[in-house]
Amino acid sequence: MRRPAASDSATRRRMTTQRRSDTEPERVVRSVLSDLGVRYRIAPRSLPGKPDLANKGGRWAIFVHGCYWHHHEGCERATVPKRNRDWWLHKFRGNQIRDREKAALLEQMGFNVLVVWECETKDGPRLRERLERWQPLQIRRDAVWGATRGGGPERLESVWTGVDARERGEVA
Ligand SMILES: [Zn+2]
Repeated sequence: MRRPAASDSATRRRMTTQRRSDTEPERVVRSVLSDLGVRYRIAPRSLPGKPDLANKGGRWAIFVHGCYWHHHEGCERATVPKRNRDWWLHKFRGNQIRDREKAALLEQMGFNVLVVWECETKDGPRLRERLERWQPLQIRRDAVWGATRGGGPERLESVWTGVDARERGEVA
């Protein structure tokens, strides 16, 4: 199917900004990771699917998906233009399938894959909490202390379990 002409200004704007590699949501995720002391590479070409952020040694990869282009299910940002609706639905479906294939390739290589949606980057504290808790990142204790002044010890313990096991040599 051929791409139809953009039918309105909002759609035209999205079409022209589609391929920007350094999007605002990506910048938000990167700054939270840096804040937490997590090291990462930006879109390493050596990995299949070119995840937006990854750490090969740490065996993790993060995709930061725009809700519109990657058609975040149930999200108010995942609108479908009224004109040429079928074409757009087909296009979004294709994007979703490609996203799943990319994640599956990385998982087959033993990577942990996390998808962060654009809408989730609008709530900084919540995003930070989610990343803190994602085990593969192995957030350091001091970084978590700094981030959760006033947070209870139970919470720290849940963040720490994986790292403790690793330090004790119980995990490869
Ligand atoms: Zn969304």
